[in-house]
Amino acid sequence: MFEKIDHIGVAVKNLENSLHIFRDLLGMECSGEEIVKDQEVKVAFLPVGESEIELLESTSPEGSIAKFIESRGEGIHHIAFKVKDLESMISDLQQKGVRLIDQKPRYGAGGVKIAFLHPKSTNGILIELCEHKNQ
Ligand code: ZN
Repeated sequence: MFEKIDHIGVAVKNLENSLHIFRDLLGMECSGEEIVKDQEVKVAFLPVGESEIELLESTSPEGSIAKFIESRGEGIHHIAFKVKDLESMISDLQQKGVRLIDQKPRYGAGGVKIAFLHPKSTNGILIELCEHKNQ
């Protein structure tokens, strides 16, 4: 089951500019930056209570974040829910006919196991499921 909103992913053109807004102007703290090679993104996390804001800047003009910004502009890109058992959640959703982008878990920022659902199956919202190692 969904345990909480883990983070909200925000597509940004420039991570430094966005950190200036979220960290310096809004006063959030940045808990770390990381490059996730296979997703072609540079990410920064800003914890807010039990959830986080994840800022995503594309590291390639061909990356999915670059394409998202090209067609929809900067802004909220996905909502990530924390789950206990990602594999069983995936097979349960597959049985119900929910379309998934990832048929099996892959590894995202921080070594977290993740899988994306297809927004065509979820009212246009890109949903990420994530399972943390130590929970
Ligand atoms: Zn995410």
